[in-house]
Amino acid sequence: MDTSRRAFMVSASAAAAVPLIAGATPASASGTPPGPGRPSKPQRPSRALRALLDDIDRSRIEAAVRRLADFGTRHTLSSQDDPVRGIGAARDWIFDQFTGYAAASGGRMTVEKQSYVQQPGPRIPVPTVITNVVATLRGTTAPERVYVISGHYDSRVTDVLNATADAPGANDDASGVAVVLELARVLAGRPTEATIVFTAVAGEEQGLFGSAFQAQRYKAAGADVQGMFSNDIVGSSTADDGTRDPRTVRLFAEGVPTSETPAQATVRQSVGGENDSPSRQLARFVQDVAENDATGMDVRVIYRRDRYLRGSDHISYLQQGYPAARFTEPNEDFRHQHQDVRVEGGVQYGDLPEFCDFGFIARVAKVNAATLWSLAQAPGTPKNANILTAALTNDTTLRWQRGTEPDLAGYEVVWRETTAPEWTHVIPVGDVTTVTIDLSKDNVFFGVRAVDRDGLRSPVAFPTPASS
Ligand SMILES: [Zn+2]
Repeated sequence: MDTSRRAFMVSASAAAAVPLIAGATPASASGTPPGPGRPSKPQRPSRALRALLDDIDRSRIEAAVRRLADFGTRHTLSSQDDPVRGIGAARDWIFDQFTGYAAASGGRMTVEKQSYVQQPGPRIPVPTVITNVVATLRGTTAPERVYVISGHYDSRVTDVLNATADAPGANDDASGVAVVLELARVLAGRPTEATIVFTAVAGEEQGLFGSAFQAQRYKAAGADVQGMFSNDIVGSSTADDGTRDPRTVRLFAEGVPTSETPAQATVRQSVGGENDSPSRQLARFVQDVAENDATGMDVRVIYRRDRYLRGSDHISYLQQGYPAARFTEPNEDFRHQHQDVRVEGGVQYGDLPEFCDFGFIARVAKVNAATLWSLAQAPGTPKNANILTAALTNDTTLRWQRGTEPDLAGYEVVWRETTAPEWTHVIPVGDVTTVTIDLSKDNVFFGVRAVDRDGLRSPVAFPTPASS
């Protein structure tokens, strides 16, 4: 194949049309630099992943949603010591579920109640103890690398300060907590290379308080959180007009990072990258590993941080500079969110379990499971990825730091047209930490990802310019 720059567009389109001409020149071969590689393809689920997904149990998810709704209200300002009704009873029940699952983990899963006192603010009239329930499944070979899955267990009605009315919160967000619990159950007995944190947070409706505290704690401890997913309102696929979309989940992922510094903004304004935040790479990873026959789902990535007028716990992690995104249902029926439970004009309002689709929640759980398992079994995202810009050239030299995973096999350079939303081409470059590609950095976007001996890939690192 002619890989000269002049012939590049021809080669690229031919490669896209005829996958058989794959087989990029390895980076180690002397002479011609590699490029343009072969078309990118999704990562197929392994047998181990399929077995994991088969274990996800819709009936357990339904039971968890109904049990959480039965606490009457889980408002953050509701009773913390009533054993039957209120957020304290829900907190203890979630803790007991995690503790039960941890028994199957051989000591790898630890469970804690993570509490602090939130001082008064607009939605917190008095100092209030906020408690996150956290199950940490320690990784076997890369325990310092962390992935977080979250749902919020607090609930609300029309008046955000009403802590006594029935607030079943079946969809918002018992559905997300049920996903987190089911994943903790199916993963507890399976060793993973990296650490996975399963968390049910509180104070979300009052201002993302529990997740903000949690993300700040990780940041203060220097934790290497390489991905976080909020599951918030994942309970139904039915819109208010009755439209159903039961095989799609939305994933909101920001472009320009919430935590962007002025120096990073200067680079982005100079050479682009507004569509290449770590959160966008995470979203592309989800599509790569979780849109398949094993999950039965499409992942509709939305290029936004969150919906209009709304926000979820991923924002707390974005504020600390961690990659994060939010899963939510494809259509919404606002009669069943944040509403007093009542019948008005013959219409039932309120966030009741009867409006949940438990099969849908189970499929959302599969998307999460495919994502977390694939992240935790693959190498981490390459660190310190740079695109070298010491001189004006018509090729591209990339450099990154080698990972420390014992099963690391090497690296792949990915690229796409600057106008394309997803990575389209892959160039396997072997176990190296620098490579020169025969494509101009001025014309396409590049990324680099790690691959292990099983062929599992990391999320893509988007290189920043470096002059030396
Ligand atoms: Zn919510």
